[in-house]
Amino acid sequence: MTVTLCAATTNPGKLRDFSVAAAEGGFTIESPPNFKEIAPPAEDEPTFAGNARLKAQYYSRFNPGLVLADDSGLEVDALGGEPGIRSARFAEDAGFEPRGVSGGLSIDARNNLYLMSRMRGITQRTARYRCALAVAREGTVLLTAEGFVNGEILTDPRGTGGFGYDPLFLIPELRFTMAEISLDQKHALSHRGRAFRALLPELRKLLRTPASPQ
Ligand code: IMP
Repeated sequence: MTVTLCAATTNPGKLRDFSVAAAEGGFTIESPPNFKEIAPPAEDEPTFAGNARLKAQYYSRFNPGLVLADDSGLEVDALGGEPGIRSARFAEDAGFEPRGVSGGLSIDARNNLYLMSRMRGITQRTARYRCALAVAREGTVLLTAEGFVNGEILTDPRGTGGFGYDPLFLIPELRFTMAEISLDQKHALSHRGRAFRALLPELRKLLRTPASPQ
């Protein structure tokens, strides 16, 4: 029997990352069927962990099984940790309008252009992705975990994979960006993969699935 875990997100990038993680865990991931009809909660906690708990708690009230929520983002040292918990809305918060760009830009493209403009002329490029995960059932948080990965912000994007800030996020040891590696490689070293692996032993117990052979 395949066990399914509901992930409280419709972000296709996060869902792709989660499906690789789930395959390692021996179960499948899906977005709750009624997810788009549920008004999202205000993500007003000051930390990734607080927002992950809040989302898991909230969405698990609408769904009978276990619900997994993720709150994640980018912290850039030279920007004092920005965009942090505001990563998804970095450009929007600043009212950023890219010059000389015609046509509609995706939110990710706009955020990346804004990040590039904020980093222009800055030599200290260190940054990290952080991810907080929470699992809840019927409004009660049962499990939490966190993960991070260090990197550097490039001056120009590279690669077409991943999502969000991945084309600008260089993994120094590999000399590739997160948008230039496979989903399996991303899972092996990313903030989300690390958080997920920290969650996995207890999650398996909750899902009552045996550990997959190593
Ligand atoms: P959330 O949906 O409020 O957790 O916002 C997460 C935001 O952080 C995304 O919209 C991206 O901008 C950024 N982010 C989080 N994880 C990743 C990742 O794995 N790659 C690239 N960007 C990410």
